[in-house]
This record gives sequence, C-alpha cells and structure tokens, in this order.
Amino acid sequence: MHDHHSETYRLDAVRALEWLKTAESENFDRICRLAAAYFNVPTVLISLVEKDRQWFKARIGFDRDQTPIDQSFCAYTIRENGVLQVEDASRDRRFRFNPLVTARNGIRFYAGAPLRTRSGHAIGSLCIIDKEPKQLNDAERLVLQDLAEMVMAQIEQRQLSDCHDPVSGLPNQRQFFADLNDLGLQPQAEHRVLVLIDALDSHRGHEMTLAVGTGATQSIILEIAQHLKQSLSGISCAYHVNDRQFCFMLQTSMPDYELFVHRLIDRLRAMTRSDSALTSPSPRAGMVIFQHDPLSHADLLRKAMHAVESAHQANTHWALYDIARDCAWRRAFTLARDVDRALASDQMYLVFQPRFSLLDGRRVSAEALLRWNHPELGAVSPAEFIPVMERNGLIQRVTHWVIDQVMSTMAQWQDLDCRVSLNLSPKDFDDQDIGEILRLACQRFDIAPHRLEIEITEGEWIRANPQVIRQLKGLRELGMDVAIDDFGSGYSNFAYLHEIPANVIKLDRSIVTDLPGSPRNQIIARSILQLARDLGYRTVAEGIEDYQCLALVTQYGCHEAQGYFLSRPALPGALAQLHDHLPPRQLVAS
Ligand code: C2E
Ligand code: MG
Ligand code: MG
Repeated sequence: MHDHHSETYRLDAVRALEWLKTAESENFDRICRLAAAYFNVPTVLISLVEKDRQWFKARIGFDRDQTPIDQSFCAYTIRENGVLQVEDASRDRRFRFNPLVTARNGIRFYAGAPLRTRSGHAIGSLCIIDKEPKQLNDAERLVLQDLAEMVMAQIEQRQLSDCHDPVSGLPNQRQFFADLNDLGLQPQAEHRVLVLIDALDSHRGHEMTLAVGTGATQSIILEIAQHLKQSLSGISCAYHVNDRQFCFMLQTSMPDYELFVHRLIDRLRAMTRSDSALTSPSPRAGMVIFQHDPLSHADLLRKAMHAVESAHQANTHWALYDIARDCAWRRAFTLARDVDRALASDQMYLVFQPRFSLLDGRRVSAEALLRWNHPELGAVSPAEFIPVMERNGLIQRVTHWVIDQVMSTMAQWQDLDCRVSLNLSPKDFDDQDIGEILRLACQRFDIAPHRLEIEITEGEWIRANPQVIRQLKGLRELGMDVAIDDFGSGYSNFAYLHEIPANVIKLDRSIVTDLPGSPRNQIIARSILQLARDLGYRTVAEGIEDYQCLALVTQYGCHEAQGYFLSRPALPGALAQLHDHLPPRQLVAS
C-alpha cells in the first residue's frame, strides 16, 4: 500500500507529464484499437490518475474524457504490481455501488495494467472494460501488460525528446527549468552561480554560417557540448538551452569557481580557434549568482545572457551580471518601445530657447528642444533618449515629428517673426533627402525657409557619406542656415570645416559654461571664436549661465549667445511673452 509520501511523489510524476494534457497521440489510439480487437471488448481506456480525478488520454467506447476519483477502477490498479482483474463488478464489494456499475448497461468486467515510470511510480493504467462478466487467462494478462509497457515507452520517448536537445543530446532549456525548480526541494537554499556559455556570438555565428555553411557551425556546437559534458562530469550538469548556448550551475561554496569557469572558457576558446580570425567562434561566458526563488527563475537565464552581452561589449572572455547595466539596458528598451505612443500623445513636446545677438541684444532666433514626459519614468532628457532612438533606427520618425511641430508652431506665431533652429541627427541624412523633406514642410505650412536653421554635430559621418554634403548644400540653397553644434567638443576640426556647407558655429557648452573659472577654456574659446569669425562664420556661444561668462564671449567677439542666464527654454505659447531683447543690464557694451 502506498503511504502519503510516495503518493506525493507519484502525483509529481503525473504532473511532470503535463504535456499529455495537450499532446494528441495517434499511437495511443492505435494501441487502444489493438487492445479492443484482441480482447474483443467494447471499451479501452488509457487513463492518468490524479489526486481527485482520472482523465483519459485515449479512449474507445467511453464518452467522457474524465471521471471523479471515487468512481475510478484505475485508482485501484495503480496499487497493484500486475494486472488488476474484476471479473464481475456487480459482485465485487469495492465496485458494486459504483454509479458506473449500477447504471443501465454498466461496467461488469474490468482489467487494467498499471503504467509505471522507470522510477517505479504508477501514473495511470491501460484498461479494458466490458458490459459482460469475463475472465482473462495468464497469456492474456501478459498481453495487457505488454500493451501497457508500449504506452509507457511511448510516453518516455516523448519525454526524452521533449527534454533533450536533438543535436547534442544534452538536456534542454525545459529540463533546465524543471531542475531549477527541483532545487527548491533541497533543504538548504545555497548560493549558486549560473554560467551561460555562448558558443559563438550571434553576429559571428551568422557570418560564419553564411561563409562556411551550417555544417561547420554545428560541429563546433557539438565539440563544445562534448567538452562541457566531460569537464563538468561529477561537478555539474550541462544544458543546451538554445541553438548556440549552454549553461550549468555551480555552488558558490566550490573553491575557486570563478577560476574554474575562467579556465573552462579559455580551453573552449583554444579548442575552437581556427587559423582564420573570421571563423574563430570565440566562446564567452556570462555568470549570475542566485539563490533559489521560483519567482525569479525565468529571469535568471535572461540575466546570464545579459552578462554574456557585457562580456561581448567589453571584449572579455567572461563577465558577471551587473544590475546597473541591466537597468540601463531595460530603460533604453522601454524608451525605444514607447516612442511611437509618446509622439502620438502629449508626452512629447517642444520647448524653445531664445538666442540673442550680442551686438544689439535683439532676440535673433530660438532653438527647438525636444521634451519627453514619460508616464512611468517621468521627465527624460533628450541627451538620454535621442541616442537610444539613433541606435534603434527610430530617429527619423522623431525628426519628422519635430519638423512638423516646429512648422505648425511657427505658423501659429502670427506676430512673432522668430527664426527657429532645429537639431538633426546624422541618421537623418541616410536613405532620405532631409532637404526635400524640410522644403516640402515649409511649403505645406507656408514658412519661408530662411526662417529656419538646422544644427548638426561635426564628425567623420559627414565625410563618410557623400550624400550628406549634397543635402546640406541643398538646405543652404533654400536659404536655411546650417550650424555646427557643440563645436570644440570631441574631434572638431578646422582643417575639414571648409568642406562642410555650414555658415554658423556654435561653441560647445562644455567650453563656455565654466569660462570665468578656466583660463585654459578662455584661451580655447577665444581662439575658436576668432578663427571661426575670420573664416567667415557666424558664431554662437551656448550655455551662458552668468554675467561674467556673457562678458567674456562678448569680449571675444562672439556674435550670438544662448543660455540659462539669458533665457531658459520656454513653451511655444510663452515665447511671445518673453523679452525679445536683452535687458540693458545683460547687454555688455563691447
Ligand atoms: P544641444 O543641441 O547642444 O542643445 C543645447 C542643450 O543645452 C539643451 O539641452 C539646452 O537645454 C541646454 N542648455 C541651454 N542653455 C544652457 C545653460 O545655460 N546651461 C546648461 N547647463 N545647459 C543649457 P537639452 O534640451 O537637454 O538637449 C540636449 C541635447 O539633445 C541637445 O543638445 C541636442 O543634441 C539633443 N536634442 C534636443 N532636442 C533634439 C531634437 O529635437 N532632435 C535631435 N536630433 N536632438 C535633439
Ligand atoms: Mg543644438
Ligand atoms: Mg549644443
């Protein structure tokens, strides 16, 4: 008889076969038909016995797909070693009051063979049923048992292929998660480390496959699988969790586990290195330390993949999961995901920061700056989200929206004849003619092109694509100003400047803002402003935060200025109310 514990394990075994609930199997039906013909009975069932019901995976001559456990004959069968035979149920005290027996045309004969897993748990039965009393001889009992074995073999085969990778034969991701869950059965929750091995990174893998075919990549994967199996034997179990990735767990109490991983990955790299760098797969590892917690299991593999990605980006052989990087990564993902909704709602809007002439204090224009009020993340700076959009191929959509907003705002400023400058990203010059887009927008909103200025940052990207210069020329021909933004930061270069059709130079904030306190920046600012001026550019200093700073750039002969000291960015409606002239106090006599 089974005690409470073994019943728990038996039920676990039934639950482990969860797929049976959905997977249809032709072979089960065949076995049922075979049994019906051989024993000449109207009803054959393959049943699984759960806690309070039994359900039928395959059935012939029975119209329900489950019955409550208290009506189940099979619940008795699973306690037997061999076949349970009930020659006449109406005379058997266990069954004679069973509704299935007392019903009209009810069950009289029953014989069932238990379905037993390799670990010895009976999960259900194969049974034959008749409305007439009947008796099986020894040979017939053996046949029934054989058929039950066939059902079980079918189930096990299915489980095996469900939980193992067909190529490497290693347990797969499904098995990994099942085993991860089993960790919870262990009495002490120890710290463990999950190590994910990326056999060949996805870009490299793809390139390799294109060059040498799937055969070569497959054999590398197999080689690595084999080596992992050997290296981990007696220590841990390797899982083949997806195409190119393997994982295993170690206890952090294992001395020098990091060194172990380090050496393992070095061996894998040495082993798979080929003569050509192009076809060397360079495996990497990502590690994440964890404690058993069923709620975070699904996330564990993701974190380990994240660590692999960190290793990839840092070009190291392995990396440990870093929560800060993970958060930044997910935040960027959220931003990229939400941009369309933001553009379609009032989450995104433009503010305008005035720019003033240092000669006469007039407001000459305003720079359109994008703002995003994200529903969960709050205010997000363009310095953060613009690069995300650039990386994810979303910037053109954003720019089109900005252009439309700028134009419609200008069209609404009836008495305000303010010029506007807008920022473009290098990606705005790819696969489209931004000049043409701006020209059409000006036409649509009836805005004179000379009221517009575009700001770009100087860099290699301008020379890398001949279309850029052509498009910039087009903009200049339309009458728009082209400004080099953030000049003096990064690698701004006067030598190449004449190749760019720009007529305005904006000195970078990082040089301007702390000008009063930095003699070095004073020299740089003065030189750049003078040189730019001599070369015929109009010059702008941005990031003016105080009077001294304003005085210095005025003294250096800068033409125009922008900064918090002069005016903060304002909503389009508020711009008209702002001063259109610098107050005399702020105007420095030059
Ligand atoms: P940027 O084009 O150099 O814009 C100037 C930045 O300096 C703005 O930051 C502005 O608010 C800030 N600023 C202005 N005066 C001061 C000051 O006195 N002190 C300080 N500390 N900062 C000042 P914001 O609005 O955060 O924009 C950051 C960057 O994001 C912009 O730098 C620009 O590169 C980009 N960006 C903003 N809007 C757009 C857009 O519509 N399209 C594109 N492609 N990029 C944009
Ligand atoms: Mg700008
Ligand atoms: Mg700037």
